[in-house]
Amino acid sequence: MMKFFGGKKDIAAPPSDAPDSGAPESAKSGLFSRMKQAVARTRESLSTRIEDLVARTRTVDENTLQELETVLITSDLGVQTTTAILDALRDRARHEAIESGDELRALLKAQIRDLLEAPIAHRASAAPPEGSPRVTFLVGVNGAGKTTSAGKLAAWYRAQDRTVLLCAADTFRAAAIEQLEVWATRSGVQIIKTRQGGDPSAVLYDAATAAKAHGINELIVDTAGRLHTKSGLMDELDKMRRTAAKLIPGAPHEVLLVMDATTGQNGLNQARQFTQAAGATGIILTKLDGTAKGGIAVAIAQELNLPVLFAGVGEQMSDLLEFSPAAFVDSLLK
Ligand code: GDP
Ligand code: MG
Repeated sequence: MMKFFGGKKDIAAPPSDAPDSGAPESAKSGLFSRMKQAVARTRESLSTRIEDLVARTRTVDENTLQELETVLITSDLGVQTTTAILDALRDRARHEAIESGDELRALLKAQIRDLLEAPIAHRASAAPPEGSPRVTFLVGVNGAGKTTSAGKLAAWYRAQDRTVLLCAADTFRAAAIEQLEVWATRSGVQIIKTRQGGDPSAVLYDAATAAKAHGINELIVDTAGRLHTKSGLMDELDKMRRTAAKLIPGAPHEVLLVMDATTGQNGLNQARQFTQAAGATGIILTKLDGTAKGGIAVAIAQELNLPVLFAGVGEQMSDLLEFSPAAFVDSLLK
């Protein structure tokens, strides 16, 4: 018989630089300091220029706003999102003068935070019926970080005392199956797999059946990297959706688009197509560490109306942060 549970996992605690580690506040401050570390390069590029502008600003006029516009566009927020932010700031400046650079920065932060929080209110994901596994598909192009994120997500749920089953539905490459097996071992969860070249829907069928039979809370499904233009692959994803729904009402409950932050505005176009074709319900933004293009998170929220739910900040098991708009904005700007 398969053993799904095992003892409580010792997930490596995220390295916390907070000296008061262990105090109730430390988880929060640990998350904040890790986010801050992850967006260091984005902050360097964005914050330096914003602070320079803030320092030179007395009363905000059209010139100030135009300068701000340039900074935001070149920080991967993109034209559409920057325009939305600037419209709101102009509107405010028209009704009530913005008296200082500090006030401008505070308004900008509030605006960015609002944009990031807005899609959370219109979540498209469904809740599984009481007692049924929640089914999460991870989709996205090759190399975005799906398999890695599936492994990290499994560990993340285990740390919340949820039972997890991984499904290796990327059957294109043997390496992908082996890679997920390594993650399953690391995070101490079971995996359902098939041979290379096997039918992804068949392995999903087995995984969903096992998850139901064993009362698993979270079924995480790794899928093959597919491009929206490859209709064969999209058909395969459709078939997987139907298979999941047949066994578990409302499944897949989440379709998380895994997106590589380093692709910036180009990735956004791809994400737009995926959102429509694959019915994405949320984003895992990977490789936030080491890129200056973190501003893309704001563009995703504003342009795709999809919530960024998790951020990948490295290659280790604990390098997945639950995304917090407040922590993100406070990490980016003073
Ligand atoms: P997939 O093709 O979408 O399944 O992508 P993989 O999960 O195989 O990841 C591709 C590469 O990106 C691997 O080398 C991962 O270690 C790396 N990777 C994934 N997520 C992150 C992340 O958040 N940060 C960093 N630095 N690397 C990541
Ligand atoms: Mg993969």
